[in-house]
Amino acid sequence: MNNTQNKTGKTTIELGRVKGENYGYKRSLAVTVDIELKDSEKGLVLSICGYIWNTKRTNIICGGQCNDELKHLLFRQQFTTFKPTFKDARRLFQIWERWHLNDMRAGCEHQRKAKWDEKLLDDTKPATQNNMATWTYRKDNPKGLLAEPCPECGYKYGTAWLFETIPADVIEFLTQFVKTYGDK
Ligand SMILES: [Zn+2]
Repeated sequence: MNNTQNKTGKTTIELGRVKGENYGYKRSLAVTVDIELKDSEKGLVLSICGYIWNTKRTNIICGGQCNDELKHLLFRQQFTTFKPTFKDARRLFQIWERWHLNDMRAGCEHQRKAKWDEKLLDDTKPATQNNMATWTYRKDNPKGLLAEPCPECGYKYGTAWLFETIPADVIEFLTQFVKTYGDK
């Protein structure tokens, strides 16, 4: 953790412009992403937020955890300009989804590996909040996982915010991404 100093900080990156008609505008709209790495007692904490701006850039149409939305727009070729390479963008979206707020994990490493957070109470129904096993106590549903212990370490799901260390290659990619696409 000794050379984290030059890696911390927040950078706003202009990703590109998206076709305005997706949001009822005639002109294209700017899309930015904020990438922030912060030092904490346990290690680096990542936060990524994305924004789609109105034409005057006075307000946001979509902001925060809009990675799914941005990914969709990119895959549907709705950007008129887009700064990063497709490969870099894909990796950024993967990292965003996987590592955003890595200091606020509801599950332990085993529960993450076993994908507790994807388990449904009823597999025939969509993954809405009411159908997520980790949102439900076992007393309310036999498939509920909230506060249930991990079979390996005993940690009870959702009873603390756990820290998960970001791998070095992810930090390296983000540092490089900011250097390549951030405004000087
Ligand atoms: Zn565990």
